Amino acid sequence: MTSSARPLLNRRLAEFGTTIFAEMSALALSTGAINLGQGFPDTDGPEEVREAAVRALRDGLGNQYPPGPGVPELRAAIAAHQQRRYGLSCDPDTEVLVTAGATEAIAAALLALVEPGDEVIALEPYYDSYAACIAMAGGRRVPVTLRPDDGRFRLDLDELRDAVTDRTRLLLINTPHNPTGTVLTRAELAAIAELAVERELLVVTDEVYEHLVFDDAEHVPLATFPGMRERTVTIGSAGKTFSFTGWKVGWVTGTQELVTAVRTAKQYLTYVSAGPFQYAVAEALRLPDSYFDGIRADLRRKRDLLGDGLRTAGFEVYEPKGTYFITTDITPFGEKDAHRFCRALPERCGVVAIPNSVFYDDPAAGRSQVRFAFCKRDDVLHEAAVRLRRLAS
Ligand SMILES: *Cc1c(COP(=O)(O)O)cnc(C)c1O
Repeated sequence: MTSSARPLLNRRLAEFGTTIFAEMSALALSTGAINLGQGFPDTDGPEEVREAAVRALRDGLGNQYPPGPGVPELRAAIAAHQQRRYGLSCDPDTEVLVTAGATEAIAAALLALVEPGDEVIALEPYYDSYAACIAMAGGRRVPVTLRPDDGRFRLDLDELRDAVTDRTRLLLINTPHNPTGTVLTRAELAAIAELAVERELLVVTDEVYEHLVFDDAEHVPLATFPGMRERTVTIGSAGKTFSFTGWKVGWVTGTQELVTAVRTAKQYLTYVSAGPFQYAVAEALRLPDSYFDGIRADLRRKRDLLGDGLRTAGFEVYEPKGTYFITTDITPFGEKDAHRFCRALPERCGVVAIPNSVFYDDPAAGRSQVRFAFCKRDDVLHEAAVRLRRLAS
């Protein structure tokens, strides 16, 4: 054992305990509550994609270490997807890297590009791995807070501009944004791009919800803006788009220089992963537009189903334009502390949700916000809505 004077966990990770998802999922298990906390679908993705994985396993495709950058079939499919959807061309051999989910892509990008002491600007509330990965890279995180404004969480561009200093190394952007459901507009993205070019910043952009956008919202990759291709690391994932979050197949696209840098870190994290699933995801990316339209329509309906339930129950609802999360405010219940509210929710009505306060540096900023996932079967969402109505009485 170590001496008692020195904590086991190193200083970089000292502030990170168990993730909120572990805490709330355990609560869901012990109480039998409906788990709308962690964001994973309760129905698997397309049968033909599952079959493609089975075929790969049987045919011995990917059962041994696949190539470091990913299997050529998947790299080609990723490049074709970027070209077809966004007109972005990338060389599948040098400008695409397959990773163990977007999670590893984020870690590898930050470990590769951040020097100790560098400042990394991240939109707050942020996805929980960002803070930990910035810390592991020795960077300093500088949050820029998205604030509710007219029913939507808005990025204050002046605040973003003011956050940039001589020590800023990169902007870590996420759109469509988890947990708020905000989809950055073309104008906001153009302003971010201009700032990045002017201040010569790198940009890491987490676009794992690129296909899950609703109504009039449109996903535009940051890399498509002038001057951005050479400074942007774009991160995608099969998990959310195809409802196979357990497969952990993600990817990075960017210039050869950027992708090589990320690969340098990535090769010592997992080296490779998910061999047979890589072949299946290559097929998934080639699904016709009808698949992508279908999942969007399906999720929009689910958003409305849960959103109506939450409004009826008395929550203030920020209607998401993307992702599969709804952020709400509990102030109408006369409550202020989301963490306490979420700990009591299973007992009160048999539903588990996540307090957004854990996604802020300043917990006061998101103190009364609670996030619900709607990537669940309709009957589950109906039942959750019925249960949540108990809060209204
Ligand atoms: C789910 C999620 C990820 C992780 O994606 P994986 O491919 O499962 O690793 C990354 N970023 C955001 C914003 C997410 O919601």
